[in-house]
Amino acid sequence: MVRRVAVVGAGVSGLAATKCCLEEGLKPTCFEQSRDIGGLWRYKDQAEEGRASIYRTVFTNSCKEMMCYPDFPFPDDHPNYMHNARLQEYICKYAEHFDLLQHIRFKTLVTKIKKRPDFSVTGQWEVVTQRDGKEETAVFDAVMICSGHHVYPNLPLTDFPGIQKFKGCYFHSREYKEPEKFRGKKVLVVGLGNSGCDIAVELSAVASQVYLSSRSGSWVMSRVWDNGYPWDMLIITRFRTWLGNILPRTLSDWLYVRGMNRFFKHENFGLMPLDRTSRKEPVFNDDLPSRIACGMVVIKPNVKEFRETSVLFQDGTVQHDVDVVVFATGYSYSYPFMEDDSIIKSGGNQVTLYKGILPPSLEKPTMAVIGLIQSLGPIIPTADLQCRWALKVFQGRWIDTCWANVYFQLMGSSISQQQYGSSSTLQMDYITYMDELASAIGVKPSVPKLLLTDPRLALSVLFGPCTPYQFRLRGPGKWSGARKAILTQWDRTLQ
Ligand code: FAD
Repeated sequence: MVRRVAVVGAGVSGLAATKCCLEEGLKPTCFEQSRDIGGLWRYKDQAEEGRASIYRTVFTNSCKEMMCYPDFPFPDDHPNYMHNARLQEYICKYAEHFDLLQHIRFKTLVTKIKKRPDFSVTGQWEVVTQRDGKEETAVFDAVMICSGHHVYPNLPLTDFPGIQKFKGCYFHSREYKEPEKFRGKKVLVVGLGNSGCDIAVELSAVASQVYLSSRSGSWVMSRVWDNGYPWDMLIITRFRTWLGNILPRTLSDWLYVRGMNRFFKHENFGLMPLDRTSRKEPVFNDDLPSRIACGMVVIKPNVKEFRETSVLFQDGTVQHDVDVVVFATGYSYSYPFMEDDSIIKSGGNQVTLYKGILPPSLEKPTMAVIGLIQSLGPIIPTADLQCRWALKVFQGRWIDTCWANVYFQLMGSSISQQQYGSSSTLQMDYITYMDELASAIGVKPSVPKLLLTDPRLALSVLFGPCTPYQFRLRGPGKWSGARKAILTQWDRTLQ
């Protein structure tokens, strides 16, 4: 019987986990190594060890209606996309509203999580923590890992011959905070992800020149989509997902590429992804095309070699007098507190998780990894639903057929990659994934039923944006304000 749940981390995922435990009548203890909640969104001037670090000007890529907690909409007057400080304010209000702070132990680092000797019978974990140099051990019936996935920089220097000879300065994007100290410098940014593009655009206003190097291109989207509406409210809809699933692959790929080129033609800007039909997470940057058009950012292919003061690229071109290199090369996953990290990691930077949540090698499903999967959707509602699903599994309500099945398959060594999502980034389609979890715990909205009982709501659910409130309309965890929130979502957007 699961009663006591340890939650590691008080970022947006850890807060969702704590709140969902309370909703289920469980007893959560959330351990947070820092002094505050918010995780990645709590900006600090210096990167802190073991915690995500963002630059001063990070704004959200998901709009407020899509990225809120499903039973706690943003205030009407918040802008659609938010500065990190604004989001942090909202996170604090959420924690206050649901009275979560009393369940969080701040300045408490989880140093070790290990199975109890009788794990195969009880499913219990021993959690070792450290606070002010004092170590404590406690036993929990289940553990939810919400420690974040933008913490440990991936800095593959061996892929960059000659970097040791380079006389300028180089660092990972995690260390970047603001542009001023790069005034007048020639800067190379390596990596065309969200951070790489943001940093290149920001530096282009002060640097003498910015080069942006990419190995495989990327789709770049604007936050402001057709008629100025938020991109995600127009693109992430059930109707579009349904259409994408029934159309022949070639037609849906063609429509996808056409849609992605709507903002500007990527080929003309040297940004065309090598795998153009891959649904890899796009980059959101409203300014990059104009900076390229003005020559403030110059797109370059992959780096072939670094020399003392210059850089040779794969196309044979050389850029001289480069002062600074920013490696925006992403992050690695690490769970330093796991006594046996092969429970989550399956080698290198690979993770294998059932439904992107449960480590499948456990005899008892009493551990969940929250917020790791990546989809075109926002993390907050994803984490909320993952937590609700995981808690049902912990409590054995859904386990008999399902987990027995998983466990049985594993014992037969027939892990299906597709089913378990084994990857360095667990990439999923947002609505398909959310519906899968929601169906399993009985909270997926039924459009046919709604068409008969509440046609206005049904049409909003089917053709409108798939906002988080949809997953709190019915079933366990139902929120009485969900219907109204859906019917007024465009009003808040326009406001
Ligand atoms: P984090 O925010 O990283 O929080 C983890 C917490 O765990 C931290 O507080 C940390 O101190 C604590 N912790 C870690 N280890 C321990 C330990 N051993 N003991 C105790 N405490 C521990 N997602 C979106 O949906 N929309 C966006 O617009 C968006 N923009 C992004 C922009 C950037 C630049 C980046 C890097 C990411 C963005 N993301 C976005 C994804 C982002 O990861 C999530 O929004 C979210 O912050 C992840 O929250 P989390 O709670 O899972 O992890």
